[in-house]
Amino acid sequence: EKKACIIDGKAIAQTIRSEISTEVKLLSEKYGKVPGLAVVLVGSREDSQSYVNLKRKACVEVGIKSFNVDIPEQVSEAELIAKVHELNANPDVHGILVQLPLPSHIGEENVMNEISIEKDVDGLHPMNIGKLAMKGRDPLFQPCGPKACLELLSRSGISVKGKKAVVVGRSNIVGLPVSLLLLKADATVTIAHSHTPGLESIIREADIVIAATGNAHMIKGDWVKLSAAVIDVGTNAVADPSHRTGYRPAGDVDFDQVCKVAGWVTPVPGGVGPMTIAMLLKNTLDGAKRKMEQ
Ligand code: NDP
Repeated sequence: EKKACIIDGKAIAQTIRSEISTEVKLLSEKYGKVPGLAVVLVGSREDSQSYVNLKRKACVEVGIKSFNVDIPEQVSEAELIAKVHELNANPDVHGILVQLPLPSHIGEENVMNEISIEKDVDGLHPMNIGKLAMKGRDPLFQPCGPKACLELLSRSGISVKGKKAVVVGRSNIVGLPVSLLLLKADATVTIAHSHTPGLESIIREADIVIAATGNAHMIKGDWVKLSAAVIDVGTNAVADPSHRTGYRPAGDVDFDQVCKVAGWVTPVPGGVGPMTIAMLLKNTLDGAKRKMEQ
């Protein structure tokens, strides 16, 4: 029985984090300053809180200064935007991340538009996304989750150029930008979504599959082409009474089945998740470097 290579996102992320840590030290020796990242949390959603904690902790571990901005749920849009402006003006802050989703009374787009594109380490400002979409232009930052997918492929020695890639999902945060990154890397890209008929046969054509739908274990083993590379962005909570929290994370891919068919596959947890955080640190480092070298 064939077994796919499991792409160890946790280990690759650890390698990148130690590379970043070395670079942070060099910057600090050269400029007497370390990179700074503001992680803004509005309200107290449990999932957002745990993502934010992971990001803040990851900063500290590589020597990036973490500016923890916790804002009550009832904040007005204008007040939140004022906070963003304050962070834009703070020279010690090189990156600003506003954890999504925001409470429903706040216009997400209005807030994201106000983040300085030079500090948009999440890469989600429409100007950065727009440049990502255009030939011959480069955004200042690429979105972290999508960048994580490409980095996992390249660090596993999987080439993208000329390959058939299928992305399942078209969200602003994952599906769309990962499609644009694959296109920039010269893949032939198909974007599938909830209105796509015949999803299985589309996926079966793909050399590279990126799953980002939010449906646990949706992609089955017999949907996947022999030896394909499967990157699972899905992070879904499925009930598991044996787990401390009552839930465990599950990907969009039926890992046990897909393992038997695919050439490479990322696990959940331990795949795209830790790499996404590593890419956030990398973007922050790159933003700080750009600023300090000016
Ligand atoms: P969204 O809900 O915003 O988007 C889901 C996308 O999948 C939509 O485009 C939707 O289509 C499509 N979709 C849903 N169901 C199906 C289906 N049955 N067949 C085909 N397409 C489908 O989710 P996100 O993009 O924000 O997140 C996707 C997953 O990735 C989630 O599990 C999330 O937790 C995870 N995630 C992981 C991150 C990481 O760092 N590892 C970062 C961000 C997200 P349509 O547009 O037609 O509605």
